[in-house]
Amino acid sequence: MGGESKVTYVTLSADDALARTEFSAAIDRVKTRFGQTTALHIAGEQRTTRSTTASHCPIDARIEIGRASIATADDVQDAIAAAHNAFPSWRQTPWETRAELLAKVARVIRHRRYDLSALLMAEMGKNRTEALGEVEETADLINYYNDRMVQANGFVQPMGKLSPSDTNVSVLRPYGAWAVISPWNFPYALLGAPVAAALLMGNTVIAKPSSETPITGATLMGIFLEAGFPPGVINLVTGGGRVLGEAMVNDPRVAGATFTGSYEVGFHQLYRRFSVKYPRPCIVEMGGKNPAIVMDTADIESAVAGVYRSAFGMNGHKCSACSRVYVHETVADDFRDALVAKMRGTDIGNPLEREVFSGPLATKGSMDDYIRFTELARGASAVVEGGLRIDEGALGEGYFAKPTLLTGLPEHHPLVREELFVPILSMKTIRGLDEALALANDTMLGLTAGVFTKKPEEIEIFLDRIEAGVVYVNRSAGATTGAWPGVQPFGGWKGSGSSGKNIGGIYSLACYGREQSRTLVQ
Ligand code: NAD
Repeated sequence: MGGESKVTYVTLSADDALARTEFSAAIDRVKTRFGQTTALHIAGEQRTTRSTTASHCPIDARIEIGRASIATADDVQDAIAAAHNAFPSWRQTPWETRAELLAKVARVIRHRRYDLSALLMAEMGKNRTEALGEVEETADLINYYNDRMVQANGFVQPMGKLSPSDTNVSVLRPYGAWAVISPWNFPYALLGAPVAAALLMGNTVIAKPSSETPITGATLMGIFLEAGFPPGVINLVTGGGRVLGEAMVNDPRVAGATFTGSYEVGFHQLYRRFSVKYPRPCIVEMGGKNPAIVMDTADIESAVAGVYRSAFGMNGHKCSACSRVYVHETVADDFRDALVAKMRGTDIGNPLEREVFSGPLATKGSMDDYIRFTELARGASAVVEGGLRIDEGALGEGYFAKPTLLTGLPEHHPLVREELFVPILSMKTIRGLDEALALANDTMLGLTAGVFTKKPEEIEIFLDRIEAGVVYVNRSAGATTGAWPGVQPFGGWKGSGSSGKNIGGIYSLACYGREQSRTLVQ
């Protein structure tokens, strides 16, 4: 399966003989490259810096995957200048040429999928299926944008006429230098997709991967850079998130930005401050506190499967992770018992050795959060299932932890209200759909949500009233997670996203262009 057909986020396992052989060879190759230092890439040239930052393996934190150069304020200025200077000629490059370069990037990503997955497993601890899924998703996002560009005829649209001598056309034109800042949980997809969208529309790019996963980020950008984009069209800076953030906010040469990450940085540090002299587009994709609702008519087996996969898959490190489940009182005991049984059977282990359901938490910060949150829950007298770090044996050197279910927390408790981003789910009993929807929507965030019910009228009410950008009904493959480009466009409402248009959907590419209406009179 892993080698032949495409792995997506609804694939249950990428564990077959071909995948095992491919992974084993790829892991060996990737290990030989541990310890290298990645460079910045500015105006077509590599640049190493005096300061570097280490990236450690969450499977065994003693292992250094590599080091990344830390960009200074001067490096960032140079990257912005390079992107700004490269823009006039890049925007005149026909979109078909831009699309060809991106198609090449997607082909190389797919061709190197096992090496890219192995590196992702080593730097972030994803399991094999999730890692392969992300690599495939990255290629699919790029190809999807290329297809949209073709369907939209490069966003050149003939318009109506008020007089026979008029020719009226609407065109979408690029903005200029575009900053792309990505998080650590999807270091390929959420860097590659906005970079591709910006480039395809004719913008130039300053890309900054997360400082937690700079090696995967730099490796992906290496594939873009090797594809043959002219110097300055793509610039890579690592480290220095705050330095780039401040420069972006203050420098009018940065014409637009896409940020994916936390609400705190996205909204407060960037979005609110991004428009100085005049408005500039700032797409911010942020967190979730995603609810699933299980009604009395639900298929409990399917609800348990969907909630388990969304709450604990990839250790809850998805912005779409299910972190609250509201279960009808008549089925609550059955649901809880079945979920706990499944949690106790979770296969936790080293993803470099074999296919597992859970690898390690991805970062030291996540491990610290997990410990803090479970202590907080115990302090609040919640009933805690799981809630333990695995600190013995081979897994003791990494950040391994048990999936955790909390019951009995008051609804206003911070653990129920704030995004946790670790494998912790809180459950509450409800008496009806009205109550469940009121609780589900009582959050600043609005990314994903799910419902399990057999009643058509409840499905209709849920779809009408739930405040979220991606919603699922009766989905055992993931109650709130597992969107795929061109299938489930992905984006958030309220405090989860700014554009109201979803990634990998029909409107997203248009966010990277500005409309010019052209009237020519003969
Ligand atoms: P983060 O906000 O800490 O960091 C995101 C990026 O911003 C990183 O590259 C970081 O180095 C950089 N950064 C930090 N401070 C900055 C500043 N002042 N100016 C500019 N850049 C700065 O988020 P994270 O921990 O990497 O990612 C987890 C968060 O991302 C979660 O909240 C998750 O829900 C969210 N997320 C959202 C989506 C989505 O599509 N909505 C997808 C994935 C992750």
